[in-house]
Amino acid sequence: MAATSLSETFCSEGCSQGRRLLAPAFQATYESGSKAGLGLTERLKITKPDDWHLHLRDGAMLEAVLPHTAKHFARAIIMPNLVRPVVTATDAAAYRERIMAALPEGADFTPLMTLYLTESTQPDDIAAAFDDGVATAVKLYPAGATTNSASGVRDIAKVYAVLERMAEIGMPLCVHGEVTDSAVDIFDREAVFIERVLHPLRTRIPELRIVMEHVTTKDGIDYVRQSQKNLAATLTVHHLMINRNALFRGGIRPHYFCLPIAKREVHRLALREAAVSGDARFFLGTDSAPHPDHDKETACGCAGCFTAANALSCLAYVFEEEGALDRLEGFVSHFGPDWYGLPRNEEAITLVKRDKPVGYVPKIEAGGERVTVFDPEVPLCWEVV
Ligand SMILES: [Zn+2]
Repeated sequence: MAATSLSETFCSEGCSQGRRLLAPAFQATYESGSKAGLGLTERLKITKPDDWHLHLRDGAMLEAVLPHTAKHFARAIIMPNLVRPVVTATDAAAYRERIMAALPEGADFTPLMTLYLTESTQPDDIAAAFDDGVATAVKLYPAGATTNSASGVRDIAKVYAVLERMAEIGMPLCVHGEVTDSAVDIFDREAVFIERVLHPLRTRIPELRIVMEHVTTKDGIDYVRQSQKNLAATLTVHHLMINRNALFRGGIRPHYFCLPIAKREVHRLALREAAVSGDARFFLGTDSAPHPDHDKETACGCAGCFTAANALSCLAYVFEEEGALDRLEGFVSHFGPDWYGLPRNEEAITLVKRDKPVGYVPKIEAGGERVTVFDPEVPLCWEVV
């Protein structure tokens, strides 16, 4: 692209600034040195990461996007919002089969399935699916909150019996934390959800283990920090990199539109601070959510950013910028399994920092459609090797 030389200029600035900010504690896993001819100067070896919130879709899209996740992540919590949602254990088992069948030869990846909570979900069915190891968690979508959420929950009281049972058996609830009341401003929906739904729910069923997913506000971060137990949060790649201005920079930018929508800069900074803090209640859930370009670039475009292809590069950029590369491993590889009570991965991956931006493909192909890869418009010099 024509922007190459410009990117390189940005890169040398961005990269040298990152180096200055490196925390001294990082020396243990971090190697620096000039490797002439290889174009790499820094190297970071970490436990293989997991993704605690992922949309894989189905069919040709599944086949196209899954290899990008399986290349870098050992496990992922798979979202159940297919066009026909994954509601029962049978649905989850069948979807898991389709995911396994779509894996590239030799890939080592474990999908952790979730069940889509509806107002007619039965406590016994959920408990059996958890017991059999078919489902790892249950997903609560307020009806109408995001892509394929029409069968979600309208009245939380109608699912109390299921949630009480989950609390008894220790099954986690993943929550899309936004109210859908059209009278509430879209930028306030997370904060209002905490007040109207999440806090009353946690007060009523304190033993329920909840992951507040893709937190986008300082309100959400503060709420998790104040909690005593049974509450964690996932943070996405894109919400750490863009604020709401990015949606309108130079014109409307459909590939930055996601739900929850990106918020003001003060919120993005709060998310970053939480991500790099080393607080184990905050871990990675990319919410990588592919849509064909024609569904994004249209009069009523779909919400979601496809970040699976360059998620770790983006995160290394963010953590380096924050002077916290030594905390990247906790965020992407340790805190998630610890919270879910699963073993940490034994394999490792290595990231190297190139002296030029890595040339990520701007789009991938899925069944004849094109899907745009998230472009944070900063030089991404880190790459998984
Ligand atoms: Zn999602």
